[in-house]
Amino acid sequence: MKRIAVLTSGGDAPGMNAAIRAVVRSAIYNGMEVYGIRRGYAGLLSADFVEMDLRTVGDIIHRGGTILRTARSEEFKTPEGMEKALENLKTLGIEGLVVIGGDGSFRGAIELSKRGVATIGIPATIDNDIPFTDYSIGFDTAINTVVEAVNKIRDTATSHERTFIIEVMGRESGHIALYSGLACGAETILVPEIPYTIEDVCEKVVTGLKRGKLHTIIILAEGAGNAFDVGKKIKDITGFETRVTVLGHLQRGGTPTAFDRILASQMGGKAVELLKSGLSNKMVGWVRGELVVTDLEKILTTQKTFNKELFELANILSI
Ligand code: ADP
Repeated sequence: MKRIAVLTSGGDAPGMNAAIRAVVRSAIYNGMEVYGIRRGYAGLLSADFVEMDLRTVGDIIHRGGTILRTARSEEFKTPEGMEKALENLKTLGIEGLVVIGGDGSFRGAIELSKRGVATIGIPATIDNDIPFTDYSIGFDTAINTVVEAVNKIRDTATSHERTFIIEVMGRESGHIALYSGLACGAETILVPEIPYTIEDVCEKVVTGLKRGKLHTIIILAEGAGNAFDVGKKIKDITGFETRVTVLGHLQRGGTPTAFDRILASQMGGKAVELLKSGLSNKMVGWVRGELVVTDLEKILTTQKTFNKELFELANILSI
């Protein structure tokens, strides 16, 4: 393999730049030429390629977002779009591609690999909803951002003895809510995976305050209900003042944590090693501290399990 390309696709995540850097430098170290494709699959269709050298990835390991930018492309999913993508890769003589993104991006990678382009996926999404990896790039940074924000909210919550509902990202999964909630010592964590009743939530608020708690912190994944509705219902039932903070996109940004940089560097290096040894249609994951290689198809047909034990523990520790 003489020439490869790298792209970032789907939602951005802190640490994507560290992964790009690792892919580029490992490839060059192994005697390959590397192209960056701007704006994900959209750039693959418009031939928005840029040749990468050692310096183009200098000074980016600490930066959030992605220097290659990212986009979504409906056209890429069409037969004509796929043809155009293959043609653009062929024109430049690109034989291998590293796709840094989430499960949608991996669907695209599978299609390319079926058509003869060696592809390797690197999981990058703050949601951490990809199976066969304990962590995806960006998750650790996102939960640390939530923890930092909640530390500040806790000060005002205590001063005013209020109940705060903090909405975090996660339309379909509660991983951010669970991990940040446990790290924050939140009284209640609400996630789409575990049903709850507003009456139970209220009971916990009331008993906590009766026992002398000065405030209540509720972390709510966006897929587990509307934060303002939950806040209003708690006020209506308990009579306590509630306040709502929606953290929104700030969870996506910021300088990646050391953990995310190390994870991204390892995964980027491994992706190049896999391409070099002739493998395709695989994802590099990180399970129990070790890099693990899994078929991309398996990633898409498996649901990431929600850590119920950790959820139980968070409940026990917040009594
Ligand atoms: P993520 O990778 O974060 O899950 P998306 O789901 O938006 O993000 O997917 C990113 C891009 O991957 C889409 O805009 C599209 O170009 C490509 N993609 C998604 N699904 C498919 C598919 N079934 N076939 C080909 N390409 C796909």
